[in-house]
Amino acid sequence: MASGRRLDVLVCGAGVAGMTAALALARLGHTVTLIERDTAVRPARLDEAGGWRRTGVAHLHQPHAFLARIHAELRAVLPDTLDALRAAGAVEVPLPDGTRSLRCRRSTLEWVLRRDVETQPGIELRAGTVQRVETRRGTAVGVHLAEGGLRPADLVIDAGGRRSRLTTGARDAEGFDEPANEVYVSRRYRLLPGRQFTAVNRWVVGVEEADGYALLVFPQDAGTFTVAFVHLPGDRALAGLRRAPVFESAARIMSLGAAWTDPNFAEPISGVTAMSGLRNMFRPLDPAVPVGLHALGDTVCTTNPHFGRGSSLAVAHAFRLVEAVAEDPGDPAAWRDRVDAWVRGELRSWFDDARQLDRARAAAWWAAVDGGAQAIPSMSPPSPASLPRFVLLAAAGVDPTVATAALRHMQMTDPPEALDAVEPRVTDLITQGWRPSRSPGVPTRAELVETISAVSVPVR
Ligand SMILES: Cc1cc2nc3c(=O)[nH]c(=O)nc-3n(C[C@H](O)[C@H](O)[C@H](O)COP(=O)(O)OP(=O)(O)OC[C@H]3O[C@@H](n4cnc5c(N)ncnc54)[C@H](O)[C@@H]3O)c2cc1C
Repeated sequence: MASGRRLDVLVCGAGVAGMTAALALARLGHTVTLIERDTAVRPARLDEAGGWRRTGVAHLHQPHAFLARIHAELRAVLPDTLDALRAAGAVEVPLPDGTRSLRCRRSTLEWVLRRDVETQPGIELRAGTVQRVETRRGTAVGVHLAEGGLRPADLVIDAGGRRSRLTTGARDAEGFDEPANEVYVSRRYRLLPGRQFTAVNRWVVGVEEADGYALLVFPQDAGTFTVAFVHLPGDRALAGLRRAPVFESAARIMSLGAAWTDPNFAEPISGVTAMSGLRNMFRPLDPAVPVGLHALGDTVCTTNPHFGRGSSLAVAHAFRLVEAVAEDPGDPAAWRDRVDAWVRGELRSWFDDARQLDRARAAAWWAAVDGGAQAIPSMSPPSPASLPRFVLLAAAGVDPTVATAALRHMQMTDPPEALDAVEPRVTDLITQGWRPSRSPGVPTRAELVETISAVSVPVR
């Protein structure tokens, strides 16, 4: 390929990764065919997006927090998309370090991206299912569609999400794929006229956590918000939360839940939906795959959604590929090397971090489910190198320097290893007697189970 050539790009999957990659590549002057298997067209009006039925994205209506990282990535590469999101009612939340996060429904983000894709010169959005990649002499040259026909391309991108099978056979043998320790049970609400959102304790979301479960509140756009209980998969005593009367009663025993689900404050606008089967998965492409073939977003990496990282990572991943292409459109081997370095560097670090946080929390939660003692470990003299990251993050409440580092970590503003710089401070705190602890006053899991049982079993 001659440098400066206009590429024919084929993107499989019009999710967050596929649409942001398509938009940014089209704006570099490349011709993009974006193929989406899900035939549900974009609702004509934004206010209908909350009911958009996307079978290809089962989590479209699950609550999403959009971190400072996705805001920064969009501002740098697709600033007009960010403007369009603001115009669509997404709220920018200023954070104490000067960065901003975004509050909106995932369906609002998808609706705005889809409209941009539909109107962007250089992008053809087609309904179809990408079935197989065609290669010739170590180079991807196009894809076969399930409907028949070969679509030639210079660059093939698998952005088909966590269930994509397009590049399954092209994965590095050294991947990870294990269950994430969380089930989401959520319900959407709308503020009553005249009501305003109140502040939430974690900037983008409100969190009330006990050992064994947590309640989260996600303020969104258009006066909507979502309340979610999260618990361990297999914690059958909490399965009753899926029933609306149980969900409502359980929310009312939490101070956060009681305030946000108060019938004088908001009304439910959905049933209760549950999402399980979540995974921590890291499956980079084998470096020996044909050049010109890339996989992005959830296709390569999924982490426990509790940390709200998936969309930020998907967009960052898409833009690292776009930057590599922009650097030299004629050198697909260089695209592969640059993107691979990011995947095995930063993306892998975020995956490891999320996996470690997930495991530590699950261990504490399982101890509570099993009727164990205080699950947050008491720490005998710590060695700075061995402090788990959840302990560093817990110290945010007692030290302003740690608080800033924790904020920038949880919003994915700094690279994951930047948090390690506060270890000596946290070690000092531990030496002085500080220990991580849960917020007081949150009902225990046993109290939640009692509430669930009281609603589930009718009193005669
Ligand atoms: C319960 C839950 C909560 C979450 N919460 C958050 C959060 O708070 N914050 C956050 O940032 N992230 C969150 N995430 C993660 C986030 O939603 C994902 O990381 C994000 O959707 C990844 O985008 P993607 O484009 O890679 O894949 P997807 O959004 O899954 O898009 C893939 C697209 O490809 C299409 N497709 C698949 N195969 C084919 C094919 N063969 N041919 C054509 N089209 C195909 C699908 O129909 C779909 O449209 C959450 C995830 C879950 C499950």
